[in-house]
Amino acid sequence: MNINKNSFLFNEISSLKGVGSKTKKYLEKKKIEKIKDFLWDLPYSIIDRSKITSLKELEIGKIATIKVNVIKYNFPRVRNLPNKVVCREKEEKINIIFFNSYEGYIRKILPIGKEVIISGKINYYKKQYQITNPTYVKPSTQKKEIVKIFPKYSLTEGLTEKIYRKLIFEVLNKINDNYEWHNDEFLKSNNFNKFKKTFLNLHNPSKKVDIFSNDYRRLAYDEIFANLLTLFSARKSVKLKKKKKKIYSNKFSQLILKNFPFDLTNDQKRVLEDLDRDIKSENRMFRLLQGDVGSGKTILALIAAANVIESNYQVAFMAPTEILASQHYELAKKLFFSTNIKIELLTSKTNLKDKKKIISNLKNGSINFLIGTHSLFQKKIKFSKLGFIVIDEQHKFGVKQRISLAKKGGDNCDILSMSATPIPRTMMLSFFGDMDVSILNEKPKNRKDVVTLLKPENKISELWPLIKKEMSLNRQIFWVCPLIDESKKLDFSSAIKKYNLIKKIFPGHVGLVHGNIDKVEKNIVLKKFLEKKIKILVSTTVIEVGINFPDANIIIIENSNKFGLSQLHQLRGRVGRGDTQSYCVMLYKNNLSENAKKRLKILRKTNDGFVIAEEDLKIRGHGDLLGFQQSGIKNFKFADPVHHKDLFLMAEKKIKNIKIENIKKYENLIKLYDRAEIINEIAN
Ligand code: ADP
Ligand code: MG
Repeated sequence: MNINKNSFLFNEISSLKGVGSKTKKYLEKKKIEKIKDFLWDLPYSIIDRSKITSLKELEIGKIATIKVNVIKYNFPRVRNLPNKVVCREKEEKINIIFFNSYEGYIRKILPIGKEVIISGKINYYKKQYQITNPTYVKPSTQKKEIVKIFPKYSLTEGLTEKIYRKLIFEVLNKINDNYEWHNDEFLKSNNFNKFKKTFLNLHNPSKKVDIFSNDYRRLAYDEIFANLLTLFSARKSVKLKKKKKKIYSNKFSQLILKNFPFDLTNDQKRVLEDLDRDIKSENRMFRLLQGDVGSGKTILALIAAANVIESNYQVAFMAPTEILASQHYELAKKLFFSTNIKIELLTSKTNLKDKKKIISNLKNGSINFLIGTHSLFQKKIKFSKLGFIVIDEQHKFGVKQRISLAKKGGDNCDILSMSATPIPRTMMLSFFGDMDVSILNEKPKNRKDVVTLLKPENKISELWPLIKKEMSLNRQIFWVCPLIDESKKLDFSSAIKKYNLIKKIFPGHVGLVHGNIDKVEKNIVLKKFLEKKIKILVSTTVIEVGINFPDANIIIIENSNKFGLSQLHQLRGRVGRGDTQSYCVMLYKNNLSENAKKRLKILRKTNDGFVIAEEDLKIRGHGDLLGFQQSGIKNFKFADPVHHKDLFLMAEKKIKNIKIENIKKYENLIKLYDRAEIINEIAN
């Protein structure tokens, strides 16, 4: 077996015969850049010419094969007018139209009175069905000759089916029959075909894509396996490197706890022990702290930071938004008040002069603790002795961003990621490899469960009394309108419309924030809301994550069915952080389907982020798991966490028992799935 024979798969498409600069451009539009990319572009459907469709069931625009009798010719003998043949099946008629063809030829293939099979695209013209220049015309006695099924690909303009199919099959046929990384026994026991055969089948389907077919399952398995292997190797290489143990006496962290107005929950204490152990150990921390919204992750990160700083290292704390970063900064300043720890905030808003100062003070080590946004991983930012990185709301950052920050740390740096997006337990390993995980289940004791209401939009006026009452008690309200990319303008205007409406009812108390408002203005409004100068904040989801508004106790969500369950749960988590009763009102349009209502009711039933994540997974399944796509965690194009759960488990088991020296065997698999780059970045 010479696997390298197939290195052509990693070549540029221009090395294929027939791919000139024009075709190359078209293919690139389809994200096909390397030859291997053809493989993943599975046909979305098929053209099935094998099935005979009755004239009564024809669908305009579709390719169909019909069996009809030839009854009449119409040869106009005028230039540019087509020849026409009328055919019949029982009472129904259809016209077969020929441009540029000879009478003699037509008489030969469509003899009057004979039964024929014709295949082509169905049109409708002057109230009659017609097929123009049919692809096939055969006597019905020769049916076998046109029984053909073609894969159908989604193509960009400029690419024809014929050329595209030819290219794909040229590639497929070039692959070595024995190109493989799994052993025969494994393939056999799972009914998997070898690599080449698998892809030949997938591109030559007898019916529409079937995610339960053995070939598709093999594809999904390889994808999962490649992904797990990547995470696994990354983790191994982090673990292999020893770091210097960090030594401290909790001097700072005790001061901080004194300034913190609450007692830690038992769960929080347990997680602190995990963090403590990691920081003091000679292995680098590579830990995910998973805790529902409002479970109190921030204080834990700050305590760990204080310990690391005491042991004479610097700490970087990265949050996905400016507001969140400044909130963490303010909190840290307050809690670290009685220490001499120097804390700075760096965001894209930081002015040039301050930024220069921060850069030089980081280098000379006089800043101990830097909190900020994406700005932290700019090239210019260099630490003198970075020992700990906290990544808040880690799913908001791409894999590459997280890696580039991690690389600033060097060998002695511990890494803590935090996330409120609950990953179903079954999926944990697949998403994070064997990253250590700490889970915060317990909510702080003073919390009351949020009361969740479902209401049709037209009963909105029933809400005014509740809102008035809570406002009179000095509480605050979030009012969320959905934001959908494609119809941005529409939705903005509806947020604005809502704002104008509510402003009239509660004059002087309402603010508006959405993605089109510039940052400065946005921060002014948010600050006003934080300082309780306004009581109602109408917004899109721009302030979704992490921000803490302890006095907000009502959230109203418009068109709630437009959001994913987990997202709704996150939104709901914006309230219920203080000790008063909170409310989440999910509004919906009257004509909501029963299914959609059932979905929303899940949120009324439970407050458990994990349960909600599992439900979300069941409902949305393939491709849209918890909105991971933009997040960099969502790495699966083919594997479906619900329908291929057994494959995930199988891959996990295999990975757990794999020996480092065997990883090389899968080199090509990892390369095929574009994971190699990530491994290299982490390992170096
Ligand atoms: P998240 O886990 O979503 O990041 P935060 O860290 O923002 O949550 O905490 C949410 C709120 O809960 C904050 O106001 C915080 O001060 C408060 N909090 C954290 N721990 C406790 C606790 N043990 N008891 C009471 N309130 C707490
Ligand atoms: Mg948080």
